[in-house]
Amino acid sequence: MGTMLLRILAVLGCLMMMVLGAEDFYKLLGIRKDASEREIKKAYRTLSKKYHPDKNPGDDTAHDKFVAIAEAYDVLSDEETRRIYDQYGHDGIEQHKRGGGRPAQHHDPFDLFSRFFGGSGHFGHGGGERHGPNMEVRVAVPLRDFYNGRQTEFTVEKQAICSACEGTGSQDGHVETCDVCGGRGMRIQRQQLAPGLFQQVQSMCDKCGGKGKTIKHPCPVCGGSRVVREPETHELHVERGMPKGVRINYENEADESPDWVAGDLIVHLVETDPQYGEQDHERTDGTFFRRRGKDLFWREVLSLREAWMGDWTRNITHLDGHIVQLSRKRGEVVQPNTVEVIENEGMPIWHQHLPEGVEEAYGSLHVEYVVILPDQMEKGMEKEFWSVWEKWRKKKGVSLDQANGRPEGPIRMPEHDEL
Ligand SMILES: [Zn+2]
Ligand SMILES: [Zn+2]
Repeated sequence: MGTMLLRILAVLGCLMMMVLGAEDFYKLLGIRKDASEREIKKAYRTLSKKYHPDKNPGDDTAHDKFVAIAEAYDVLSDEETRRIYDQYGHDGIEQHKRGGGRPAQHHDPFDLFSRFFGGSGHFGHGGGERHGPNMEVRVAVPLRDFYNGRQTEFTVEKQAICSACEGTGSQDGHVETCDVCGGRGMRIQRQQLAPGLFQQVQSMCDKCGGKGKTIKHPCPVCGGSRVVREPETHELHVERGMPKGVRINYENEADESPDWVAGDLIVHLVETDPQYGEQDHERTDGTFFRRRGKDLFWREVLSLREAWMGDWTRNITHLDGHIVQLSRKRGEVVQPNTVEVIENEGMPIWHQHLPEGVEEAYGSLHVEYVVILPDQMEKGMEKEFWSVWEKWRKKKGVSLDQANGRPEGPIRMPEHDEL
């Protein structure tokens, strides 16, 4: 009776552990049931960096999560095990393993990490791990995106660890240590300089080319080089008000190599030249605003009549489509090149530059008025204007030349000897 009870308890305990320990692999990776191979890879890349124990020292939860993510990736990245998992869940996978299912897919979590980011599976801060070079790219988006914010993507071509051979360079997975240099990649030869006098000379091993390893059957995908060039697409979140030229860091997303931990991909976010697009929202006046820091600049053209007599309105469409209305009543003069500063119609201020406690703030819109004079008039119109001018010139006219005290003739400069 007692043993029976114990056995039941033990079984229950096992079940409990299985239930607790087995989080859904799709949930774990934050992907949908029909996620593509690419999405699975992407999720693994993001999460494995986030929960890597090197980044979360002393955090057991992060460590467990890192291990679980690797397991989820192992199962879902293989067509057969994914199918088994979809049908029978965790139990199915356990049975598959016990029944001698292909063990090749089972990676050590750190080993798997190194298949993605190179090196030995660690970030190596302080561990002396070699880092690959950083990579810099320019990504240009229109001013509209800096104003409104936008979720977009960009693609870069980079060197990636060959997934066919998992970075070994070998078709069958066999990599042998070079028998000439014993894996050192270097050979030491003794040269006799004189009887009894030797010199040791170190040179690169020519059998393995300094790699220390030889491969009988090179991987057909990478030709044994262990890496391939391939395009990779990254998400880019352009935040409202981000400064021009801001640098956005994608950790460990630069060129990969089994010999190092991938460096960072650094994106320089720049502005494209202004250009109307096809759609309405790409054809606002704001498209041609010029930006300096948090302020925007715009030139508005007025006719002579408007500048002088007033009584006009202008609707300027801003970068998000809202309207900024400019106007003058009759009798309000606008001098050419006057700049009107409109508060809060400039760029949104980037959240990183906002003072503490301020939710949002904007720069100003600077409108410069340009006045265009007509260079052609109908004959009758010209006559009428002329006579009006003549009438008022005779009554109140001022000669600016005389008012400024300018002479009527040239002024003679003194000769040198008179000085
Ligand atoms: Zn390969
Ligand atoms: Zn060698």
